[in-house]
Amino acid sequence: MKPLIAGNWKMNGLAAASAEIDALIRLLGGSAPDDRDVLICPPATLVAAFAARYSDEAIQIGGQDCHPEANGAHTGDISAEMLADAGAGFVIVGHSERRADHGETDAVVKAKAQAAFRAGLTPIVCVGETKDQREAGKALEIVGAQLEGSLPETGEPFVVAYEPVWAIGTGLTPTIDDIAEMHDFIRSKTPQGTRLLYGGSVKPGNAKEILAVTNVNGALVGGASLKAADFHPIVTAAP
Ligand code: PEP
Repeated sequence: MKPLIAGNWKMNGLAAASAEIDALIRLLGGSAPDDRDVLICPPATLVAAFAARYSDEAIQIGGQDCHPEANGAHTGDISAEMLADAGAGFVIVGHSERRADHGETDAVVKAKAQAAFRAGLTPIVCVGETKDQREAGKALEIVGAQLEGSLPETGEPFVVAYEPVWAIGTGLTPTIDDIAEMHDFIRSKTPQGTRLLYGGSVKPGNAKEILAVTNVNGALVGGASLKAADFHPIVTAAP
């Protein structure tokens, strides 16, 4: 399966941050390699400009969230159709920061994933347990319930990102055995061919080991996607 290495810039990046993508492209030798997909999900303000600027270098651009509806009275929200119109190909839905900061339930996440398909985008559906849930031995149960409630019903391909909440931005990661166990579990619950990303403190120093795990088909990278010098070794670490 072709690996997908995705950068989630979160609420970081002004127009000048394109310099980091330019630097990444230089490090990659002029364009993204054919044997992996490279995706940047910048803030919504940069999606259109980046999509127009980087399509020739095969750097894909995605959104970080979308509203379930196509349009309407939802001040401040962005629809999947708007992201597609701006040139995005993917959209992250159900990131734990959205689930926590905006009270997004599994049902809302599922509606957003369905909206992505309606607009012709590929959703990246995020799931993951908290530290308390892992310590209580409930990680598989929690992620199983999130998958049950948030995955779209469609024949179209989608992506799942396993992101343990306690690993995001903390420098902590699960053991390789725990990542393998969870990804085998998610594989058993998703359609054949679904790309499964690991996310949570992926860095240049651990990317190779994590990306070599069976059923890890790429990474969703937060902090280390902001600088080309960090993101490049992660992009090239995928087998
Ligand atoms: C993320 O927020 O999707 C993420 C994985 O963050 P970080 O890589 O910074 O832990």
